[in-house]
Amino acid sequence: MAYQTVNPYTNELVKEFSNTTDQQLEEALQTGQELYEKFKSQPVKERGKILHNIAAKIREQADELARTCTIEMGKLLTESQGEVELCAVIADWFADHAEEMLKPEEIETIANGKAEIHHHATGVLMMVEPWNFPYYQIMRVFAPNFMVGNPMILKHASNTPSSAQMMADVIIEAGAPEGSIANLFLSYKQVTKAIEDPRVQGAALTGSERGGEAVAGAAGKNLKKTTMELGGMDPFIVLGDANMEDVNEIAWRSRLYNAGQECTSSKRFIVMENVYDEFVEHLKENFSKVKPGDPLDSKTTLAPMNTKKAKEDLQEQVDEAVKAGAKVVYGNEPIDLPGQFFMPTILTDVDRDNPAHTTEMFGPVGVVYKVSSEKEAIELANDSSYGLGGVVFAGDSEHGAEVAAKIETGMVFVNNFRYSLPELPFGGVKRSGYGREMSQIGQMAFVNEKLILKA
Ligand code: NAP
Repeated sequence: MAYQTVNPYTNELVKEFSNTTDQQLEEALQTGQELYEKFKSQPVKERGKILHNIAAKIREQADELARTCTIEMGKLLTESQGEVELCAVIADWFADHAEEMLKPEEIETIANGKAEIHHHATGVLMMVEPWNFPYYQIMRVFAPNFMVGNPMILKHASNTPSSAQMMADVIIEAGAPEGSIANLFLSYKQVTKAIEDPRVQGAALTGSERGGEAVAGAAGKNLKKTTMELGGMDPFIVLGDANMEDVNEIAWRSRLYNAGQECTSSKRFIVMENVYDEFVEHLKENFSKVKPGDPLDSKTTLAPMNTKKAKEDLQEQVDEAVKAGAKVVYGNEPIDLPGQFFMPTILTDVDRDNPAHTTEMFGPVGVVYKVSSEKEAIELANDSSYGLGGVVFAGDSEHGAEVAAKIETGMVFVNNFRYSLPELPFGGVKRSGYGREMSQIGQMAFVNEKLILKA
């Protein structure tokens, strides 16, 4: 069976899930369509009450949700707890703000009459999500679309079916009508079939470029709107006058959070030559302090990777990088534990034709570059096919923001850890995708912005 829960710490097969049949997919599409019709006559406020109840239910079931996620994809229990709470925060934020964001807006016009933009639902959406934040990825799409009245079909990653089902159950148990979210165990072919279906009006995907190309391709062929949240190779720029105490404290966490399996992990450290040696020394020291072990144990600080294959793929990438001339200055040694652990690793001397310079490494491996000017730092940061996020550390935040303005990504954090909150737009440019989730922009992603002109 394609959908399985396998604990990446113990390697135990915990549960298997049967694939959804075409008949079940058809029923889910029909239920979604009927709900879309009902939502049209329900005030947004009513769904706000339900979304607050969903936030409350998430908090009520936080322990179980967090444990399920850790057992299924391996992240530290404290990180799972943080993710669960963030989902409740997102639900509360959209419940509080969507009505205002979706209010009709009057626009000035020379036309004869009063012009308004009304924000309406568009219909059933296909949502395709990855395993690395199995709950948060759902909530980023669910909360705004539930508020506007777009029912959703969810195809989650094949290695996080328990988390997907649990979040979908919590949403329905908290009072969302049946069909608000239908978690289905779909094949890729069935995802395409759903996108082709006339009842589906759009698709949101978070994942790899490969997945993005398939889903955006099918949607494009059928003239349906998409948002794409794809990979990243985010730069972490350290200027010569940066506060190194802050840099040293934040850099290692920015790479190792979630065992480095994050789209916005800092994957490329671009460091000015006068602070380079100090930076590498501290990164090594901080990487060496993490303690691999049971992710359910609060003393563990390095989680296993999510699957055996993910670990093997990362090892292959590091081997290729070394073959192409990269130097391992820390790590890349086996960890003598049964789980899928990868030792935090630092690579230097990565040339621009090295695959480590161009290909995302989705695990605890950081590449450090030495630069001799700010101009070179910016040029190197932009020398990527990706454009998701980034971090800039500078002595002066205003100057850091000037550098940030020159970085070709969708998000840049200055003198700060990178994070995600419901009021902040999330997304990228170039091959990191398009569109935004969260914030007012995410609220409008699948909305019919309808002009009504009254004479
Ligand atoms: P992935 O293979 O693309 O999987 C993501 C989701 O897409 C899964 O549900 C997967 O299903 C599905 N999928 C893949 N190919 C598909 C196809 N041809 N048709 C329909 N569905 C398909 O991504 P991943 O490698 O697991 O996830 C890591 C990637 O996601 C990284 O590149 C990371 O940077 C990116 N990411 C981006 C963001 C962001 O917000 N920008 C956030 C997190 C992660 P199966 O599991 O069944 O294959």
